[in-house]
Amino acid sequence: MQESVSLAAMAAPHQKFTNPIADTDTAGPGDASRLTIDLGALAGNWRRLARLAGPAETAAAVKGDGYGIGLEAAGAALDRAGCRTFFVAVPSEGVRLRRVLPRATIYVLNGLTAGNANALAAAGLRPVIGSLEEWREWSAWRADGGQGEAALHIDTGMNRLGLTADEAQSVASADWQQQGLALVISHLACADTPAHALNQLQLERFRAAAGLFPGLPASLANSAGIHSGPDYRFDLVRPGIALYGGVFREGVAPLDVVATVEAQVLQVRDVAAGEPIGYGAAETVKRPSRVAILCVGYADGYPRASSSTDARSGASVFLHGQRAPLLGRISMDLMAIDVTDIPAARRGDWTELFGPNIAVDEVAGFAGTIGYELLTSLGGRYQRRYTGGV
Ligand SMILES: *Cc1c(COP(=O)(O)O)cnc(C)c1O
Repeated sequence: MQESVSLAAMAAPHQKFTNPIADTDTAGPGDASRLTIDLGALAGNWRRLARLAGPAETAAAVKGDGYGIGLEAAGAALDRAGCRTFFVAVPSEGVRLRRVLPRATIYVLNGLTAGNANALAAAGLRPVIGSLEEWREWSAWRADGGQGEAALHIDTGMNRLGLTADEAQSVASADWQQQGLALVISHLACADTPAHALNQLQLERFRAAAGLFPGLPASLANSAGIHSGPDYRFDLVRPGIALYGGVFREGVAPLDVVATVEAQVLQVRDVAAGEPIGYGAAETVKRPSRVAILCVGYADGYPRASSSTDARSGASVFLHGQRAPLLGRISMDLMAIDVTDIPAARRGDWTELFGPNIAVDEVAGFAGTIGYELLTSLGGRYQRRYTGGV
């Protein structure tokens, strides 16, 4: 099978990078929307974080299909950059990643689902144990002879996953050394907002909790937490969004752009002053206008909430070196832009929805959301192009 050939090539060191998704791509003839992923930028971003975080090990969060850019491609490029430890959210992501990275350490952040210790271990995946119930199930499985490793997640103030401090104490006072624990983690709720008081509190709580497990590597920081200073880095850091070029912390510029989304102009129409555009006749043009119709809509993950008729209007796309504002509501598969002031605009032009000229987080802002959500919502209809493979 074509796919397994390239997967094997990726696993072997010093061979040219091939990308498994490209081999199985299902682009249709004439597709007029595309997603370009710069794997060189991804690898470069990882190296920058690794230099900053050293001597701590730099892992990578590749959950959410590698923050929307493709789990296998992201994993393989990061592996080649030197990353050895990966965090996915759910087992299916772990299985996909394991296929391309036979030797990597892979943690499943959402933890141990009931009855699955054996299956996870067999798949070479390590659950991040997130509750005392999970811990009891895991240690019973280990006591029964189960062989596998896991991380322990301690809650330090987010109240999402993780054992309480008391629960961690009870685990620590039993024979935790016999249970295959390889890492202790917690997660920062507010690292993107450095002034938030919860950061320091979580740091202190984590220091105390990690101290209960002497000799066990500890990990607290996500992308933003790495920038909170050396105290936050412990033995291993877990960046996600920063690797993919998203905004991760107040006052810190994002790293290099990884994902660029473009759509073609399908047609340019003349619309008379006073005529409505699109569903609901929600917007009316005020002047004789030239309107370009783009081959992209909310089914492709461009949020409908950024329609120009929404309260947060101001959304635009980029073509011919200029911004063109959106007009009317975004449809499932189409949207309209005003190109009256861009006379060069014509059928077949590629317009940038986000990328080097319009940041993903700016577009997210048009819709009242964050870059994370935009990236992980990218639809499956784009022509995907991977560049910068090394
Ligand atoms: C998603 C996630 C990360 C990565 O967070 P970013 O903000 O994307 O850097 C790290 N740790 C845990 C537990 C996560 O869920």
